[in-house]
Amino acid sequence: MADKAVREPRPGEVLLEVVACGVCGTDLPIQDDEFPTAPPVTMGREISGLVLAVGSTPDEGWRGTTVVAEAFFSTCGVGEWCRSGRPNKCPQKHALGTFVDGGFAAQVVVPTRNLHRVPDWLDPHAAALTEPLACVCNCLCDPSPISPGDDVLVVGPGTMGRLAAQVARAAGGRVVISGTAHDAVRLALAGDLGFATILADDAAAFARLGGGFGADVVIECSGSGAGITAALQAARPRGRYVQVGIAGKAVTVPLDQICYRELTVTSGQGAPPHAWRRAMALIQARLVALEPLVSEVVPLDEWARVFAGIRAGVGVKYVFDPRLRQARANRTAVPCTRPGWTAGGHGHMAWWRRLPFGAMGSPADRWGSLPIQAARRGAATHAAGDRTDRLDVR
Ligand SMILES: [Zn+2]
Repeated sequence: MADKAVREPRPGEVLLEVVACGVCGTDLPIQDDEFPTAPPVTMGREISGLVLAVGSTPDEGWRGTTVVAEAFFSTCGVGEWCRSGRPNKCPQKHALGTFVDGGFAAQVVVPTRNLHRVPDWLDPHAAALTEPLACVCNCLCDPSPISPGDDVLVVGPGTMGRLAAQVARAAGGRVVISGTAHDAVRLALAGDLGFATILADDAAAFARLGGGFGADVVIECSGSGAGITAALQAARPRGRYVQVGIAGKAVTVPLDQICYRELTVTSGQGAPPHAWRRAMALIQARLVALEPLVSEVVPLDEWARVFAGIRAGVGVKYVFDPRLRQARANRTAVPCTRPGWTAGGHGHMAWWRRLPFGAMGSPADRWGSLPIQAARRGAATHAAGDRTDRLDVR
């Protein structure tokens, strides 16, 4: 943890009070210095927050709104990839959390053009998962490999897997999620979302996929050699294979299966603006539920436990709420960004419970111990120039 001054937002930028910042698997190699970064830099790119200040006039109505922010701080804007609407491929991109201070902090400066309004009904902690959802949309919606009625296998029931499964279901797929015995909790959560699940060593269940012909579409979200192998072997001939998971190292897989089965392979990395618009549309249409994916909301100073938990494979999706640390120290409540919202409570709007695909657990059950309560948020109390806690790579 470090103490660092927050700078004023410049024209075209806003200052956010961070309400939530998700922790993702990529944050481990960043911590381990196995991922390109520019230290000292504050980590965190799955950001939702409240707009405290706007660095230009007019403020376009952003001040006081709850938003999520796209993860690229700057791109060249004039090269081939930027001009074709794919700034995620810009060789000069600088991303939040690796080259520019990100959201593991009480406040963060982000470009105004990165902002998307969080719907009134959506828990702002869960909203932080819009970033991984946008990355999944980049893999699965541009164009979609899924036709209505397709049998779809998602390998790996982690956060990306359960997001991908929901997007595939929205596209008309009949989705099954597979995982290992180690994934028992994640598979149960996938079941809560209404998905059929199978174990990786259940050969008979794999043999039944697609009526015995194999899955029309296989979406690999584990990033493991075993998962990729299983996914390649589960695809039907002429099927489509989508790689979402990142292995982070060379892995041995039966690549010839792509030839033998004549597979079409696609993937995606990061998320261009149109993938963010798709993600927001899926959220707005209630086709993707983010709330059930958040397993624990934690203060920043518990980062060591969070990172150890991810390494050990316990927990599912941690989201930092930087406001919690001070609230606990002072034994005070953290006001939420919206009237009627408890930070972690869902008394009035557990909407996914009413969806037709099964009874889902509410994250509120798991957040019950947090010292927070419903409150109407008053005027923003933080000012630019305040020194705030943050989690840095050094
Ligand atoms: Zn560019």
